[in-house]
Amino acid sequence: MRQMLGPAEALGAPVMLEVACRRYLCVACKAVVLVVPSTMLAGRRYSASAIAQALALFGLEGQSPAKIRGRTSPDKIVGATASTGWASIDRWCDAVRSGNLFPEARACRRRLGCVRGAIPPTKASTVPMPPRSAHHC
Ligand SMILES: [Zn+2]
Repeated sequence: MRQMLGPAEALGAPVMLEVACRRYLCVACKAVVLVVPSTMLAGRRYSASAIAQALALFGLEGQSPAKIRGRTSPDKIVGATASTGWASIDRWCDAVRSGNLFPEARACRRRLGCVRGAIPPTKASTVPMPPRSAHHC
């Protein structure tokens, strides 16, 4: 079981989900494959859909990080710093910009009012889609 944070449905209340994961042993090469829900991201506590929604609320709707935190994080105990912002938004923006999160995402070609943390519109139409990682043997 692993924990995954964020709304269970679009614009729903944020929750902490206990998610069942399964391990499979490849009989050909003895590799162990961990199978998780498609919205679970390696090394991240929040679901992909939660992060995508948070980035949309931030970049497209211009909502404040503190408000987005309330809509994304099930943790209701907020520290002094988190009451005015949310560092996760900045980390996720940096990760998307550097290609470490949602590498298949393309830059939005429209220029919107709130562009803090937005991906610069560079050659968006020429970025190839990376192949999905999978186990092939
Ligand atoms: Zn194999």
